[in-house]
Amino acid sequence: MSVLEYLSLKPYNTFGIDACARYFCRVQTKEDMLHLIADEFQYHHKQLIIGGGSNILLCDDYDGLVIKNEITGIEKIKEDEVFVWLKSYSGTVWHDLVMYAVQHNYGGIENMALIPGTVGAAPMQNIGAYGVELKDVFVELEAIDLQTGEQHIFDKAACDFGYRHSVFKTTHKGQYFIYSVTLRLSKHPQPNVAYGDIRKTLAEWHISSPSIKELADAVMHIRRSKLPDPAVLGNAGSFFKNPEVSDALAADLLAQYPDMPHYPLPDNRVKIPAGWLIEKCGWKGKRVGHTGNHAQQALVIVNYGDASGPEIWQHAQEVQASVQKKFGILLDAEVNIVR
Ligand SMILES: Cc1cc2nc3c(=O)[nH]c(=O)nc-3n(C[C@H](O)[C@H](O)[C@H](O)COP(=O)(O)OP(=O)(O)OC[C@H]3O[C@@H](n4cnc5c(N)ncnc54)[C@H](O)[C@@H]3O)c2cc1C
Repeated sequence: MSVLEYLSLKPYNTFGIDACARYFCRVQTKEDMLHLIADEFQYHHKQLIIGGGSNILLCDDYDGLVIKNEITGIEKIKEDEVFVWLKSYSGTVWHDLVMYAVQHNYGGIENMALIPGTVGAAPMQNIGAYGVELKDVFVELEAIDLQTGEQHIFDKAACDFGYRHSVFKTTHKGQYFIYSVTLRLSKHPQPNVAYGDIRKTLAEWHISSPSIKELADAVMHIRRSKLPDPAVLGNAGSFFKNPEVSDALAADLLAQYPDMPHYPLPDNRVKIPAGWLIEKCGWKGKRVGHTGNHAQQALVIVNYGDASGPEIWQHAQEVQASVQKKFGILLDAEVNIVR
């Protein structure tokens, strides 16, 4: 395993930001990672782990060690009549795991087809799409302490999953390398068609009782039609989380904006789509220099080619400030800001 110097990170982040890593290496086994911790970390004052680079915004050159995770593989570790337990190593491409499950007719993650990135980043923000979240099928993960090299198991409770949230984004931020993730999938899948877009697509395809393959195909079709492909237009998906506000604030806003989409939550809070708030502030399809908000989905901030990290971050902060001014809601970035 060699450590490279002064490497452009442009191919390693979906925003396509041309930031430079002072040091860069790839890990392909657990031993590589343990070796790095024991022998290399002492020479570097900070480290950044990257998988697919689809949820980061590089705001500067990285004056530390960037570790590209390439530890891949999928294993069936247990099964009974009803369920199968799949352990996947963290550098595996998430969509490859979804396709593996779909091909074997193991149900539970087909609604999350085509989410970019790796398996190891999935627990970081409890990825989710079309009514399903990682936590719905999650069993446990193996993590390596980046200070000591000690290995720990985190079960679902220890991860404290919430909406785009886990302990790895908060209390344990930057503390662990996620090495593997174990999921429990169903051998008798019950496709989840709760989302209107999925039902509409399946109806157009004249499919009334979809297989999980047909459901995954529908999800991929919808995603391709709605979201910009990072290979064509740099982006990191939703830039902000959907805010959860008090029912009092939601009632005030609904009095002013009766058409505001809103979703009551069990704890008397109300979720409001960040994309709608941003669109109402006039950002949808608006280009500012080399960056802007996507024409079909205002929540996605894009790089038209030559945007720098600071330029995109500046734009995101302007969007955030305008939403706060108009609606009194401070949007929280979903993308990890790296400095
Ligand atoms: C077009 C597009 C659509 C998207 N749609 C969705 C969606 O529908 N739902 C959704 O939830 N997300 C979505 N995302 C966001 C993104 O795909 C997910 O957050 C994904 O899990 C990121 O994976 P990654 O490997 O690219 O992570 P990276 O961007 O490489 O890393 C993200 C963070 O996790 C850390 N990290 C990565 N791997 C590890 C590891 N093994 N151990 C410890 N820390 C690690 C990094 O240091 C960083 O802080 C979308 C992104 C794009 C570009």
